[in-house]
Amino acid sequence: MQFIDFGLDRKIQTTIEHLGFTEPTDIQSQAIPAAMAGHDLIASSKTGSGKTLAFLLPALQRLTKNRALSKRDPRVLILMPTRELAKQVFSQLRLFVSNTSFKSVLILGGENFNDQVKVLEKEPHFIVATPGRLTDHLDQGHFYLHGLELLILDEADRMLDLGFAEQLTKINKAADHRKRQTLMFSATLEHAQVNDFAMALLKSPKRIAIGHAHTEHKDITKRFYLADNLTHKESLLTHFLENETYQQMIIFTATRDDTERLAQKLASEGHSTLALSGELNQSQRNKIMESFSKGFHKILVTTDLASRGLDLVNVSHVINFDLPKHSEEFVHRIGRTGRAGSTGDAIAFVGPKDWISFKNIEGFLQMPLEFSVIDGLKAKFTGLKPKVQKKKVASKKPTDKSVNKKTKVTKKVKKPIRFSIEDAGTMPIKKRTGGGLTEKDE
Ligand code: ADP
Ligand code: MG
Repeated sequence: MQFIDFGLDRKIQTTIEHLGFTEPTDIQSQAIPAAMAGHDLIASSKTGSGKTLAFLLPALQRLTKNRALSKRDPRVLILMPTRELAKQVFSQLRLFVSNTSFKSVLILGGENFNDQVKVLEKEPHFIVATPGRLTDHLDQGHFYLHGLELLILDEADRMLDLGFAEQLTKINKAADHRKRQTLMFSATLEHAQVNDFAMALLKSPKRIAIGHAHTEHKDITKRFYLADNLTHKESLLTHFLENETYQQMIIFTATRDDTERLAQKLASEGHSTLALSGELNQSQRNKIMESFSKGFHKILVTTDLASRGLDLVNVSHVINFDLPKHSEEFVHRIGRTGRAGSTGDAIAFVGPKDWISFKNIEGFLQMPLEFSVIDGLKAKFTGLKPKVQKKKVASKKPTDKSVNKKTKVTKKVKKPIRFSIEDAGTMPIKKRTGGGLTEKDE
């Protein structure tokens, strides 16, 4: 199949050709015709598989071909969990609207409110936004959504994790009419909370799932190393920095403080390093991302703020210095490499505090994960032993609910697995309300 087969408007097709794309990816082949036929969609496919165009192209086509429902209201609203991601999608959208009469705006937290009021007064056709700030404008009547034709939620599960359910519900209500189409995308849409939410927002949605979140991403090589403590993790990191050939590297830590500390350490050792965390102001964040994406620095140390969606073509290595609390975030973090057919390396350190996350990730990926060892850097730590030994713990497939709800799991599993170290980091199953790792954008 080729892009030309979709019968897209000539201007859209020309821009696709300028980008050098001829064949749609799998998710594009399935989602574009379904969305063009007017269906609501819940669509998932692995990281780096082209989901952005899978929703942008049908949106552009609909606006080009259909008459607007309202002259004043925005026609397409695209919501993202983080500002960085919203900016990235906005810049892709700009490529397509720059040769048309469509107006598009980007509405993000952390930027000047009154400037945003002015651009909203110009009655844009497309709004790309993070949910919090957009809802502030909606509350104050700076725009209305009665004429909204397409509501697109990218990384929908992450928006719910970050506690945006209230804002999304409000936006949904403000645009509640028969003709609205809703598209939901992510690499991980498999848990129950998303399903409930989708039922509320979408009308008889079509489900498109290319593979599962746990399907092995063949372009990403995963390696896990046991570590005794922080110093040991740092030695492992030094080893990789010295021995591995990398283009650019993203290192994920558990908290903002860890990010800051590690970045300073690496910089003091002469590595070209940036630190990105949510406490920086927006212009600092913009500068950091711009500098990294242009390749001026080789290492970005960050938290889950950068785990989703960012398309940075030169990232050859992702290091999980600490493992994430939510298993699906692991899939998103490592998905910052191995994008659009290129290959990548994902390395993770597993210390006592990461052990429970590690076992959860193993369950989520539905495969036993092996440890690699570096000569001279072998850990004494070999994992925590469950107090209650159950057969086949590692290969037990958790249900969506068991991953999400601590209470439900205790009901389901007769003998809950207890680990012998009390403060072994995160609880095995945590209610998905965010936590220490969560970086929330307005
Ligand atoms: P996802 O949202 O699935 O993680 P993106 O939409 O960010 O993926 O796309 C990943 C990369 O693939 C981007 O650099 C994008 O330009 C590129 N890409 C998208 N569609 C195609 C295609 N049909 N052919 C080749 N590259 C593509
Ligand atoms: Mg994406």
